Amino acid sequence: MRLYLSLAIGLSLLVAKDTRADTIVLKNGRRILALSVVVEGDKVRYLTSAGELVLPKSIVDHIEKGGPGQMPGSPPTGAADLAITPPSIEASSANAAAESGAVHDGGVDRDFLASVASEARSGAPGANEKAAVAHHAVAQLELSRGDLEHALVDERAALTFTPDDPVILLNVAYLHLRRSEYKQALDYLERARRVSPKNADVFKLAGWAYYGMNKLNQAVEEWQRALALRPDAEVQAALDKALRDKQEEENYRENESSHFTLRYSGEAEPGLAREVLRALEIHFSAIESELNYTPPESIGVILYTQQAFADITRAPGWVGALNDGRIRVPVQGLKQLTPELSRVLKHELTHSFIRAKTRERAPTWIQEGLAQWMEGRRSEEAAAPLLHNYEEKKAKPLRELEGPWMQMSSDQAAFAYAWALANIEYIVRVDGMYDVDRILERIASGSTTEGAVRDVLHSDYGDLMQSTAQYLRKTYVN
Ligand SMILES: [Zn+2]
Repeated sequence: MRLYLSLAIGLSLLVAKDTRADTIVLKNGRRILALSVVVEGDKVRYLTSAGELVLPKSIVDHIEKGGPGQMPGSPPTGAADLAITPPSIEASSANAAAESGAVHDGGVDRDFLASVASEARSGAPGANEKAAVAHHAVAQLELSRGDLEHALVDERAALTFTPDDPVILLNVAYLHLRRSEYKQALDYLERARRVSPKNADVFKLAGWAYYGMNKLNQAVEEWQRALALRPDAEVQAALDKALRDKQEEENYRENESSHFTLRYSGEAEPGLAREVLRALEIHFSAIESELNYTPPESIGVILYTQQAFADITRAPGWVGALNDGRIRVPVQGLKQLTPELSRVLKHELTHSFIRAKTRERAPTWIQEGLAQWMEGRRSEEAAAPLLHNYEEKKAKPLRELEGPWMQMSSDQAAFAYAWALANIEYIVRVDGMYDVDRILERIASGSTTEGAVRDVLHSDYGDLMQSTAQYLRKTYVN
C-alpha cells in the first residue's frame, strides 16, 4: 500500500465552532483575534486559522482572554493562505451600545435590528450609523461561526445604511476575500479607496486580493504601501510570503491556458510545461463534470526543481506535491509527462476543486479520499489490512480524520489515506457521485461533515465505517 504524500496544508487548522477567542489589543488600538495567546519573554505568540504568528510584546497593550468567539470558523482561503483579521470599527460608546444591542447572550437580537432600521428610515440623527454598526456586529458573529454566507448578507445590509463608510466597505471586501472571490473584493476596495485614499487597510486587503489572483507584483506593491502607512505584523508576514514566492518565481517562465496560470523554472523543459497544461485542462473537464462545479478563479500551478520546491514551500522533505491554494509540483529530471505525474496533477487539482466548492470547509478525509478516487486509485490490496484494522477495533473514527494529518506517524497516515479512499469509494460505488456532490454542498453551506453525511446517506460516521467495511469484504476479500 503506497502512501500518497500530498497534503492540503490549508486544511490543517479547522476551528471548532464553540471556540472562544482571545483578543490582543495593540498600543495603536488595533485588535487581533486569536485562538490562543502565549506570552514568551519579549514575544507574543498567537494562533490563528492560518497558523502561529508572533508579535513583539513592545507593541501589545494588553490581552483580553476568552472574549466572544470571533475567530473566523473557516480555515484560511485558497491561494490567500493568509492570517488576516477583519478591519475593526472605531471603538466608541455609541458603537459599543449598537453592538451589544444587536448581539448579546451569544445570539442575534432581531427586534433590536428592526427597531434601529426603522429609526434609520425615520431620519433620526446618527440612526444610519447605529443601524450599520448593529448589522456589522451581527455579520461579525456569523463570521465567527464560519457562516460566511449570512455574514456577507448582513455586512451588505450594514452598507445600505452607510454606503460610503470605508470600514463597512472593507468588511464586505474582507468577506469576499474569505470566500476566495477576489474580483468582487476589489470592487468594494476601489469604493473604499475613493472615500479613504490613505487607509492602510485598503492596501492590506487589496494586496490579499491580488495575491489570491496570483498577481504577485501588485500584491507586493499594495502591501508595501500598507506598511508605509502603518506597521502591521499581519501585512509583514503576508509580504514576506509573497516576496519568497516572487523571488523564486522571477526565474520562472509563464504559460497560460483557459483555467490555469502555470509557472515553471527556466531549467524545466518547455515541452513538459505544455504537456502539463494540456493534461490539467483534460483533468479539469473531467472533475468539473463529476463534481458538477466550476472553480471561479484561474488556478495557479508551479513546477519546481526539487531544491527550489524545498526552499520555497518549507514543507517536510517527504512531501511529494502539495496544494496550498496553488498546485506545487516538483518535476526534477522529468522531460515529458508521465502517467504518474498526470495522476499527481489530477489528485492536486481535485483538492483545488473541493477547496473552492466547499469554501475551504471540507475535512481532510473527504479531501484525500476524493482526490485519490479522482486520480484513479481504488482500495484493492488495501482492503484486507483495512478490514483487519477495523476488526481489531484499531481504525480511527472518521471524526479523528477530519483535522490535520501532519502529526501522524507514516503508518497512521497510510491507514488514514486508505480509510479516506475506502469510505469515498463506498459512497461513490453504492450511491453515486451525486451523493458526494450533495455532501460537499451541505458542507459548503455550513453543515458539519457528519451532519452532511447523515442528511444525505441517512447514516452517522459509525454506520458509514461499518458499511464501508462490509463493502470492502464483499468487493475485495470474498
Ligand atoms: Zn492529497
